[in-house]
Amino acid sequence: MTTGGLLSPKVAGALSSNDFMRQRNLSAVLTMLHHDGPRSRSEIVRSTGLTRSTIAVLTTELIELGLVQDLGAQVVPGQVGRPSTLLEADPHVAAIAIHPETDAITVGLVGLGGEVIRRVRYDTSTPASARETVRIVRSIVDGIRADLDDSYRIVGAGVAVPGLVRVSDGRVLLAPHLGWKNEPIAATLSRALGMFVVAGNDASIGATGEFVFGAGKGVQNLVYVNGTARGIGGGIIIGGTLLNGTEGYAGELGHTLVNSRGSRCYCGRIGCLETEVNLDRLLPFLGRTFIDEDELDIALGVARDPALLREVARQAELLSEALTNFVNLFSPEMVVLAGYLGALYSAARERLAEAVHVQPLGGNARSVRLERAKLRSRLMLVGGAELVFASQVLPVAPSQ
Ligand SMILES: [Zn+2]
Repeated sequence: MTTGGLLSPKVAGALSSNDFMRQRNLSAVLTMLHHDGPRSRSEIVRSTGLTRSTIAVLTTELIELGLVQDLGAQVVPGQVGRPSTLLEADPHVAAIAIHPETDAITVGLVGLGGEVIRRVRYDTSTPASARETVRIVRSIVDGIRADLDDSYRIVGAGVAVPGLVRVSDGRVLLAPHLGWKNEPIAATLSRALGMFVVAGNDASIGATGEFVFGAGKGVQNLVYVNGTARGIGGGIIIGGTLLNGTEGYAGELGHTLVNSRGSRCYCGRIGCLETEVNLDRLLPFLGRTFIDEDELDIALGVARDPALLREVARQAELLSEALTNFVNLFSPEMVVLAGYLGALYSAARERLAEAVHVQPLGGNARSVRLERAKLRSRLMLVGGAELVFASQVLPVAPSQ
């Protein structure tokens, strides 16, 4: 894997401490524009504490590098006085995000600033093998490249995999619902696409996406729990850093035991959170075989069927047990519920709020916020692209 990225010096070799400082400042200004949106030079001066002349030099260099663009004079909402000249992270610098699921492969193009520029969904009747996935992604990416001609500078691709992914090289140890085992997906895709590719666990990527652009913006300690029709994944951010664990396998919150008399999980144990709190268990009550998050919100909002309401209450109860454990374990400022669990939260707010506000040790004296994820269907694309930006565009080179 390469390090350093677009802010690195053109010539190889050791960096002087001045170069290192300059790169660190370039990275700080670009990261601010990318994460927080367009800013005037005066706002950047205020936020960074650097001098006006330093910011002038840094922003000029970022514009020359093609990473920032000058939007000209704009009226800033809520600001009195003359229009300010705004700078923005250039959305033409873009990353490809890839999200393989059991029934579809989604490929998106995301610009600096986090906007999803293009999205292509390819439905599959059964989960695509790693080899099929590479073939499908390659044909979609070729199509995107042909359509977008020369207007975008694609800096790499990020893959959000529902499974255990080794962070060092993007090898999938196990993605049970896709049927993938020991697949070097990042390396294979990198050869097929001819670009830098990084892969990560989908829930870790979701946590990062919500942390950078969504409900968890500005929060340093966050537990993210996502439910899909197939399972539950988690991502934990502590002190602003994603908790990886050995090789990157941390965060399998779906295999927390919540019901000793429950069903057997594919992991071999009885009563894991993801086998008990599960959209599949709800679908028969709704008379459906599939339902998306928005439809589910509506269906649960008008639900009157006592059997359905009992199942919702049962699942909310078990989820609340797990959430209390997570608050005790990680002491987050915020718990973010995404996907199916977001819909369950909207249907059982009081019970789940109690799980993070009252039940943990110390209860009401602590302040933990419970939020529903904000980025919804954009999350995996924005988060997957962020893996690429974080390693290819924003970092400074190591100073060895
Ligand atoms: Zn399990």
